Amino acid sequence: MSLPQSEIIRFSKENLTQDDIEYFKNKYGKKFVKALRAVDERKIIRYKFSPSESVTWIVKGRGRQYLVIPELYCTCRSFYQEAVISRETNMCYHLFAQRIAEIRNEYETRTSTDKERRKLYIEWRRTD
Ligand SMILES: [Zn+2]
Repeated sequence: MSLPQSEIIRFSKENLTQDDIEYFKNKYGKKFVKALRAVDERKIIRYKFSPSESVTWIVKGRGRQYLVIPELYCTCRSFYQEAVISRETNMCYHLFAQRIAEIRNEYETRTSTDKERRKLYIEWRRTD
């Protein structure tokens, strides 16, 4: 999943206009609404681990946190069912939210160690 340049430009603006909102709603429906809400509620976290300097993106869902590989993969159930298995789509709202958050610079930043990362990954990698 990658957004067209014209949409990246729309998301880069300081404030989305009503026109932008309508455009995205028409194109992406509920996924856009949920993604935008997640961004507004600061549910997206960018972890940076040292000393490896590796970066991991997380989106906080209702019950747990999902690991998102930008434009590619999410550990949530709907991505697994709708994108991997039935191939109806190539994104879930978490993937969309990560892109919006990154473009708009509206995410939380956390730093941690590679040692801690191994522990966090056990939880993040769960796909149930
Ligand atoms: Zn997801």
